[in-house]
Amino acid sequence: MYWFHSLKRGLSHLVLIDNGRLKMRDDPVFHEALNCIRCGACLNSCANFQTVGGHAFGGETYSGGIGGSWEAGTSKLENARFSELCTGCTRCVQNCPVRIDIPWLNANLASRLNHIEPSSATKSLLGSLTDADSVDRTTPVSKMFFGNYHYFAKWGSRFPSIANSADAGRTPSTRTNSSDEGNSSLARVMIEKLVGVDRRRALPPLPKQTFVEEANSIEPPSNKGREIKVVIFADAFTNYGMTSRGIATLMVLRELGADVVVSECVPEGRAAMSQGMIATAKQHARAATRELDPHRKGACRKSWFSFWRPCHPALFSFRRGCS
Ligand code: SF4
Repeated sequence: MYWFHSLKRGLSHLVLIDNGRLKMRDDPVFHEALNCIRCGACLNSCANFQTVGGHAFGGETYSGGIGGSWEAGTSKLENARFSELCTGCTRCVQNCPVRIDIPWLNANLASRLNHIEPSSATKSLLGSLTDADSVDRTTPVSKMFFGNYHYFAKWGSRFPSIANSADAGRTPSTRTNSSDEGNSSLARVMIEKLVGVDRRRALPPLPKQTFVEEANSIEPPSNKGREIKVVIFADAFTNYGMTSRGIATLMVLRELGADVVVSECVPEGRAAMSQGMIATAKQHARAATRELDPHRKGACRKSWFSFWRPCHPALFSFRRGCS
């Protein structure tokens, strides 16, 4: 908004520049971004922004987690593609003085970007193989892969030696080395081409035994006198990746005297949500709820809700102000 006052003529001019804000106000999702007071607290609490900075995690005008919604609102949706760097960790939400649900805005940006992509036979095939919701089947192949990682990990873990042979001899790492040419095996070339995983990056190996299989093979102690019941939700990344983390949790809880059960591994929606596949994420969240529902009776309400609330406020309508 600009205000000019001309002393000479005694005239005042008020110039209002909308710049897309009315369109944002009418948007069922992005109107929330208009509450932003540009304090920058979300930027300072964002691990990704802190690491890559505003040039990578930013657009022509706005940067950081909240920047995507503003770029889309004041210019065009495609300018908000950088918002896909948001991992949905929700740390910004706790730090935002007006509690804007920035990860939810970013999931919606990713979803809209997915929906403007053209459909293809590969996407349709992949979508039906992984049971992705029909509205998410224009999603790029690499995103469909990561959004449905559980499906590929499940098949890969049935034949771990074959799946891991793509990366034999390389240490799992999250970093890349610029002098390293990378693994030039056909499998890695295909993975790089189709899914976008750099050949220099070692893949995490699939376990010989998944977390659920390993946990079920351990004889549970008698539950006599164990009054606290704990359910460990076997998420895809623990089940097919860091099985030792799940087993350590199980052992510690049993040592502490809890009666522990491990759920079946089902996708809970976070992976799909992070790729903007909101309809599929809802499908996954419902599956996880069905899996956990038998254990809900008698559960501490606080622990039950604190599990779902940060991850799925929008998927289950547990929005702020709702109980
Ligand atoms: S913390 Fe909230 S109010 Fe501050 S810049 Fe980020 S979104 Fe805007």
